[in-house]
Amino acid sequence: MERIESRLELKRRIDYFKSAGKVVGLVPTMGSLHDGHVSLIKIAKEHCDVVICSIYINPTQFNDQKDFENYPKNLSNDFEILKSIDCDFAFTPDATEIYPDGLKKNEYEIGILGEIMEGKFRKGHFNGVIQVVKRLFDLVNPDVAVFGMKDFQQLAIIYWMIDHFKYNIKIIGAPIFRESDGLAMSSRNIRLSNEERRIALNLSKTLFYIQDNYRKISLSELKRSAEERLKAVDNLNLEYLEIADLTTLQTVSKIDSANSAGVFIAANVGEVRLIDNVVLF
Ligand code: AMP
Repeated sequence: MERIESRLELKRRIDYFKSAGKVVGLVPTMGSLHDGHVSLIKIAKEHCDVVICSIYINPTQFNDQKDFENYPKNLSNDFEILKSIDCDFAFTPDATEIYPDGLKKNEYEIGILGEIMEGKFRKGHFNGVIQVVKRLFDLVNPDVAVFGMKDFQQLAIIYWMIDHFKYNIKIIGAPIFRESDGLAMSSRNIRLSNEERRIALNLSKTLFYIQDNYRKISLSELKRSAEERLKAVDNLNLEYLEIADLTTLQTVSKIDSANSAGVFIAANVGEVRLIDNVVLF
């Protein structure tokens, strides 16, 4: 595992691999790596000859400055993890490498996909995501890029990017990696106290309950009772719970053979914002 900080060095190394016909894979992250990230890198390694894990906490995707400042950082541990799984490169640029012209925000016309759920509650978030992912795609020019389904709407935005900017990159969506008790792994989990962690379990429990019961109980009833239950939990502030089509991410009222849906949830537990989802199959 080698660390690269400069975009020029990165380009030089990748050009070499590309000219040798190697398949290059990218796994973008914001660091504080956990087993969820590891699963993405392992998938990338199965599909690629060379895998680059980028670690960059992108300021333009944070709508809340405090959240940006408090975002966990753990670079030395990240390097140990990347070494242990034999990831080829850690690309750890600073802001001047990613944004040499300064930190101005770009605006992209994403349409409805960018206005619902995360787009509604985190204004400007997806513009920042597109900005940094576009920069990484242009710098790395990967053949394959792996993203987690934990950020399901982000994955939909990445597919939008591939179509909109006409990238020739194979996108792989990786399943959500969970703790043994069901909590979706997240770098932010480190910031939860023991009590908050216990409260956070309500999110995955609610999702699994809906997954287990959606054939027996109507979606509207499941949504109503789940919202009611979560809103009653102390120190948990529900932002949204949506049952939505997996392709359009628009709310659905029923599931039949013609569509497939998922349940999407976002909540603050104490000061920590968590998201999770399950697919209804
Ligand atoms: P982050 O470092 O949080 O920006 O995440 C980097 C990538 O890892 C994104 O594509 C996330 O969707 C993915 N990811 C984060 N947590 C998990 C998880 N628990 N399971 C699978 N993928 C994840």
